[in-house]
Amino acid sequence: MEQRGVTVWFTGLSGAGKTTISRAVEKKLRERGYLVEVLDGDIVRENLTKGLGFSKEDRDENIRRIGFVAHLLTRNGVIVLVSAISPYREIRDEVRGRIGDFVQVYVNAPLQVCEDRDVKGLYKKARAGQIKNFTGIDDPYESPTDPDVECHTDQESEEESAMKVLQKLEAAGYLPK
Ligand code: ADP
Repeated sequence: MEQRGVTVWFTGLSGAGKTTISRAVEKKLRERGYLVEVLDGDIVRENLTKGLGFSKEDRDENIRRIGFVAHLLTRNGVIVLVSAISPYREIRDEVRGRIGDFVQVYVNAPLQVCEDRDVKGLYKKARAGQIKNFTGIDDPYESPTDPDVECHTDQESEEESAMKVLQKLEAAGYLPK
């Protein structure tokens, strides 16, 4: 089996389901024997991009660094699962262009749904003014205009969302038997 590398980039609001879906995809890929690495925004911000904040400049730098590592792995045959809010279209497109083997997944749930879930309690804090520049509240999110996969996590199960991603990878030839 000659595995081809690819970066699967999950973008969407906080609480939309990026981590959940990418973990489910990771599990399925590992079960099938593929080489997988996960770059999760929350974890990356504790090491690779520690110290960066949430201004547009810092967010872009965060994405650029994640993109750099994803590129190294991708060109060495790894399936890289990136989950990061990555709210700005231009930098997402820049990274996509550089990596080439790239599948963009728009994890789409209405802000209200994400806020009701409030998985990490951050929306509550943002509404209370305890966190500034929170995406969806007082910072923009630019949705992808041409995602390769779109998961409506308010309407589909985690399993369905994960299967959509796997089917896309299969159809695009990234999962040789
Ligand atoms: P993010 O990584 O985008 O911040 P999380 O994955 O941490 O979001 O949280 C998403 C929440 O939404 C989880 O509690 C998850 O169980 C729930 N959820 C409901 N339906 C789905 C779905 N189809 N896909 C992913 N998550 C879902």
